[in-house]
Amino acid sequence: MELNTELVIRVGAALCVFLALALWEVLSPRRAMLIGRARRWPANLGILVLDALLVRLLIPVAAVGVAVIAAQSGWGLLNITPWPAWLEVVAGFLALDLAIYAQHVAFHKVPLLWRLHRMHHADLDIDVSTGLRFHPIEIILSMLIKIAVVLLVGVPAVAVVAFEVVLNATSMFNHSNTAMPPWLDRLVRLIVVTPDMHRVHHSVLRHETDSNFGFNLPWWDRVFGTYRPQPQAGHEGMTIGLTTFRDPRELRLDRLITQPFRNDTGAGATSSAIESEQAGPR
Ligand SMILES: [Zn+2]
Ligand SMILES: [Zn+2]
Repeated sequence: MELNTELVIRVGAALCVFLALALWEVLSPRRAMLIGRARRWPANLGILVLDALLVRLLIPVAAVGVAVIAAQSGWGLLNITPWPAWLEVVAGFLALDLAIYAQHVAFHKVPLLWRLHRMHHADLDIDVSTGLRFHPIEIILSMLIKIAVVLLVGVPAVAVVAFEVVLNATSMFNHSNTAMPPWLDRLVRLIVVTPDMHRVHHSVLRHETDSNFGFNLPWWDRVFGTYRPQPQAGHEGMTIGLTTFRDPRELRLDRLITQPFRNDTGAGATSSAIESEQAGPR
């Protein structure tokens, strides 16, 4: 596939999904916003542009380029023996999704990695733009991990492109503030992580933050025991974000970039204070 064609497909697909979800959020929002779009979107979209430019600049070959080289050189488990093409694509897709799940768990458990990833969690509302808000260093590390998986497993290039396009779309979808009837949510979350499922992961309560790590396929959380169906305070009552970095000034682009290198100096609320506030009348 031509590099430019691939880029047009990726950006075009992402833009269509973004606009459709943004419209759905306006027409049928799941919960009232604390801060809203005007103060959050400039930085959330700004960091996305920065991430995209940095990855193209620092790792121009990217995971798909490595997949082509691996296939030509016979590297990776799937390239050792011939498999039916469709099976290689499915196996490669699943391997990448499992790797992203494991990476996400590691970014919560390893303190140094959590410093990078907590910037994603520090958003005070969760909507489609949160699904694009990741620290540039996390994005670079994530790309390197993906490249390692591609080399080790021998993921076909078509599976890499499909995975990246799908993950991008599902990440925007499961962060979106879109309302779905409960029966539909129950059905959809059998095959893909829904907004109600991922919102639990953005709860200020740590035991909820440390659950529902899946970004795309919902099965790994059930297999590895990290699945939590609903937030204890309910979707309307739960507090989004962290106990730290709750000053709205932290939503600025420069503050997002420097956040991993700072400790919170703001007024921060304690987890138990927020818990009792959630339990009280509203
Ligand atoms: Zn997380
Ligand atoms: Zn998230």
